[in-house]
Amino acid sequence: MVLKKDSNSLGSEQENSQNEDSYLLELKNFDTKKEIESQLLEVSKGDDNENGFLDFGFNKSIINALINKGYKNPTPIQKAAIPELMLGRDLLGQAQTGTGKTAAFALPLIEKLKDNKELNAKVLVMTPTRELATQVAESFKSYSSESSNFKTVAIYGGTDYRNQISALKRKVDVVVGTPGRIMDHIRQGTFKIKDINCLVLDEADEMLNMGFLEDIEWIVDQLPENKQMVLFSATMPNEIRNIAKKYLNDPAEILIKSVKKETQLISQKFLYVQRHHKLDALKRILELNNEGVIIFVRTKLLTTSIAEALENSGHSVAVLNGDIPQNQRENTVDRLKKGFINILVATDVAARGLDVERIKLVVNYDFPFDKETYTHRIGRTGRAGRSGEAILFVNQREKHFLRNLENSTRTKIEEINIPSNKIINEKRMEKLIDNVNESSLAKDENEENKALIIDVLDNLKEKFSMDDSNIAMAAINLVIGNKSFFVNDDDSWIYKQNNTDRNRSNRNSNNRMRNSNRRNNYQNDSFETYKFNFGKFDGVRVANIISSICNSTNINGRSIGKIQIFNDYSLVDLPRDLHRETKNKLKKIKVRN
Ligand code: AMP
Repeated sequence: MVLKKDSNSLGSEQENSQNEDSYLLELKNFDTKKEIESQLLEVSKGDDNENGFLDFGFNKSIINALINKGYKNPTPIQKAAIPELMLGRDLLGQAQTGTGKTAAFALPLIEKLKDNKELNAKVLVMTPTRELATQVAESFKSYSSESSNFKTVAIYGGTDYRNQISALKRKVDVVVGTPGRIMDHIRQGTFKIKDINCLVLDEADEMLNMGFLEDIEWIVDQLPENKQMVLFSATMPNEIRNIAKKYLNDPAEILIKSVKKETQLISQKFLYVQRHHKLDALKRILELNNEGVIIFVRTKLLTTSIAEALENSGHSVAVLNGDIPQNQRENTVDRLKKGFINILVATDVAARGLDVERIKLVVNYDFPFDKETYTHRIGRTGRAGRSGEAILFVNQREKHFLRNLENSTRTKIEEINIPSNKIINEKRMEKLIDNVNESSLAKDENEENKALIIDVLDNLKEKFSMDDSNIAMAAINLVIGNKSFFVNDDDSWIYKQNNTDRNRSNRNSNNRMRNSNRRNNYQNDSFETYKFNFGKFDGVRVANIISSICNSTNINGRSIGKIQIFNDYSLVDLPRDLHRETKNKLKKIKVRN
């Protein structure tokens, strides 16, 4: 049989879309208004002997750290922001994650602090989530890894105060944290802010979405008046413009406008699957692609049961959910980065901000609550200008959500079929051929060892009268092991399902117009109102409620609906169909203790 690379097989489109130019950069308030059409993350392009960061005048330690990281050229946002920040200007930047914005502010700040010997922190970076705080702090640490005595400390909720307090007592250059914990440390006097001369608000729109506006304002008011301010936001709604107007002083404005959005490096697909076949469908998908995968599910309970099932099928899997302590989560992400595990089963909250370049596939096992959650999930792949793939599982009831999602993201999500036995078996054969071929090329034994192996072959031929093809067959059997090599589980349901779905989908397209009005009610229909026994009299604010709910349950901030705070109670709209365990946790949540 001749095995061809299947052009429909997962992953085959990835290379094609890579390196497509994605961003248009506009600089305002500059002497000459420039427009640069540029390539995102030109790591592999450019002159190999020249490092594009040399022009900024960074000291050697920074350049060495960048070389270690493999950065050759600055990204558009870095080209635009670094010179401004080196001059000490305030900056208002509109850029998504994945554009290299962290290095854009971290590098000039590290450069400016290279000779800092003082004890108290000079720079404060505020992020909406713990995950982003960890990530930004890690970036600072790696960019300053060659700079002597440069210290970055991350402070965020959900972890013990003690380590943070003792880190803050020692010499610190940069503090990265989430608003709630920063406030706590300022109030307790454990974070000395009198020497802060630069404040960075990262993902400011997200902080506003999470209800942190008052907290941010409180923190800004505590800081010394004379300071450089940097504000990055993925979108620029009026609220962000107002904050900028209020706090920023003649800022350089940088806009990385997505001409082609980052998500377009991601090939987006969906498949129809009935609820009781989901796990089987997932296993079939993983047959085609199982290296660097994140599977998003709705509940913590599901993360563990799916991970167990996948582990039993021989995959290397880990779980990321809100019950797992922060340090263990960090360890899991690290193992995923290093390739010790290949598959992560996660809830939305736990995987927020996750930046692992080797993620090639995101599986939306459970339908996301909203467009933002979907965009965030699929953005876990296609990092740093690479391409990736996202597959969304859709059941009968979710079909109209799919259309909504396509409309609101203005993306056509392409339908694929669940891989049948035939496809999987072809893939397995292809892999086997590749493996055998690779191992014949890779074996670099010395002559003595080669002679011994030839002895083994001669022995087999003489003693057992085996010819070359018998021996090859036996060796392949040894590689395959005891388990049957080909899948022959019943896959008739895939064909049946495809047929009924096709018919239904034809019928549905006629009804689409009639249903469009009802579809708009999706958001409202999917909420239920919960009453909590705390309110204005307890000093509770929206941000407190959101962060308590997010931190005590697996509910994602974005999926929380309307919040109304009355004098002695509050009403919160939460997604319908919450798991019993989550409801129990909600009964126990504490707000501001
Ligand atoms: P960010 O937008 O800061 O989240 O960065 C997205 C990814 O791009 C991270 O994985 C960075 O390590 C990577 N990155 C940032 N700047 C560069 C650069 N100049 N060259 C290559 N990779 C970069």
